[in-house]
Amino acid sequence: MMTRRTTLSLGIAAAAVWAAARFTPKSQAQGGPFELTLSEAEWRKRLTPQQYEILRDHGTEYAFSSPLDKEKRAGTFACAGCDLPLFSSETKFESGTGWPSFWKPLDNAVGTREDRSYGMRRTEAHCRRCGGHLGHVFEDGPPPTGLRYCMNGLALTFHPAAG
Ligand SMILES: [Zn+2]
Repeated sequence: MMTRRTTLSLGIAAAAVWAAARFTPKSQAQGGPFELTLSEAEWRKRLTPQQYEILRDHGTEYAFSSPLDKEKRAGTFACAGCDLPLFSSETKFESGTGWPSFWKPLDNAVGTREDRSYGMRRTEAHCRRCGGHLGHVFEDGPPPTGLRYCMNGLALTFHPAAG
């Protein structure tokens, strides 16, 4: 009897884990609404035209155009739209693509969704707080994640570590 009951509760626990893993918050799946929401005019006031094109209009900067591609100091890369810290310099690597690349974002910082534009199937990455477009995620990155967060430097602001 004891054994049967244990087996049953284990089964329920496994089902709960399975359900939790499959559950995706609606806001994340749909890419909104976001914690920080501004009007188009407000975003235009806050951002440079180049930043607006990337963050709010899903643009892509020219490869090798961002000084942040070569940024090697210790520090944090934050969202250029709302200053939410997105990446640590510890996860930055030289990808050779000409865009700042990271193998992992900070916890609860970057959201993703499928992007089928330009006839490609890619994973789009955006700021969790303001929804600003950052770049794309590819599965050809280095260990330990094997991921490559290919970011637009214009979507980021670098804050060097203190000291
Ligand atoms: Zn943001």
